[in-house]
Amino acid sequence: MTVNRDPREASTGASAVGGDGLRWLTGLGRGLKRACPGCGRGKLFLGYVQMQQSCKDCGLVFEPYRADDAPAYFTIFAVGHVIVPSMLLLEQTLHPATWVHMAMWVPLTLGLTAALLPRIKGAVVGVQWGLNVRN
Ligand SMILES: [Zn+2]
Repeated sequence: MTVNRDPREASTGASAVGGDGLRWLTGLGRGLKRACPGCGRGKLFLGYVQMQQSCKDCGLVFEPYRADDAPAYFTIFAVGHVIVPSMLLLEQTLHPATWVHMAMWVPLTLGLTAALLPRIKGAVVGVQWGLNVRN
């Protein structure tokens, strides 16, 4: 992974991280909505998490922005920090039967993971776009 600087930035002294300073945040927000980080209108994914080759709206090519395993790690991190403390709190306060835990936490874990994974992948790609990080 490399950070490619826009040649236009060399003349201005602005960096990919600097620039307007909030480009990565714009990309993050658009990515969380599973939208193109460049324009916010086009779709980022063909299906669940398969990236399109380029934005149908603005033409931004998505191929250089590859999230690899980062979305899976971030999703596990986020879901784990919601589910595990909740499970421990329930166990400490109400001490329900094991089948109650299984009936609650397994579907909740799977559902939360399924809901977050594409959004987090979009956010990772959006931040890569915002910081001009290309693979
Ligand atoms: Zn676009």
